[in-house]
Amino acid sequence: MKFFSCDLCGADDPIEVPRCREYTGGQAIHICSRCGFVYVQYRRTADEIAGSWSDDIYGEGYTSAIPAVKARHLYVAEFVENCIGLNDKKLIDIGAGEGNFMLEASWQGAKCTGIEPSRNNVQQIIGCGFDCFQGTIESVATSQRFDVASVLWTLENCQDCNAMLSKAWELLKPGGHIVVATGSRILVPFKKPLQDYFSTNPADTHCFRFSFKTLVAMLWKNNFTTVDQNRFIDTDYLVVIARKEPYVNLLEVGSLKGDNPQAVASFFDRWHSESQRYA
Ligand SMILES: [Zn+2]
Repeated sequence: MKFFSCDLCGADDPIEVPRCREYTGGQAIHICSRCGFVYVQYRRTADEIAGSWSDDIYGEGYTSAIPAVKARHLYVAEFVENCIGLNDKKLIDIGAGEGNFMLEASWQGAKCTGIEPSRNNVQQIIGCGFDCFQGTIESVATSQRFDVASVLWTLENCQDCNAMLSKAWELLKPGGHIVVATGSRILVPFKKPLQDYFSTNPADTHCFRFSFKTLVAMLWKNNFTTVDQNRFIDTDYLVVIARKEPYVNLLEVGSLKGDNPQAVASFFDRWHSESQRYA
């Protein structure tokens, strides 16, 4: 296991998410005491984490071919189409799963390619007529450049969100856009009991939990400027679209706008109390 400092600001003095061990089988999840980012400190390699997803979690019957998952992919495709347009755009879907989003985006006219670690999923995607690289984003080598990179319900599940975002940056043409969607957003109304939010899967299969502010800051740190976001307060997921900027050192740690760590701790405390009635 490798130790990670806060992925957003680099600080190393976190507090624990209150009561989280009651829901995670004793595993710790931390809140950075400087920027409020929620992250897991100890992580396996990117390949091992991807292996957990493709062999254990997918292998146990997780499928995106259910109404709730299809609906969220349709939602994102429509949202992106309305904001920046998809027709004739070259799109790369990072962590493509079973290719559902690529299908939705292609119906909007996008030309889609996937990156996906699971061999079974890759075969399914190719069977739908798309190109797909097998592997993690870290292992993909291509000189192709894209107009849109989608990272949907994936950024929170990788080993190193900065590595994933900087690789997405590389894969985009100048002025290209990244689309990030996550269901594990925080500092919003509770959408389900905490026992259904945390799990006893290895904690490093879900290393990050973003608020809108920390996602915008993480994108900014990786040279993306946020141009649009969905109504995440009353939707079950947070979707952010950001534009690739030329590489300049945008990062000044003091100016990163994260969250108040105590407010984040208090959010989880209140969520724990509220969840007791469903226990
Ligand atoms: Zn931090």
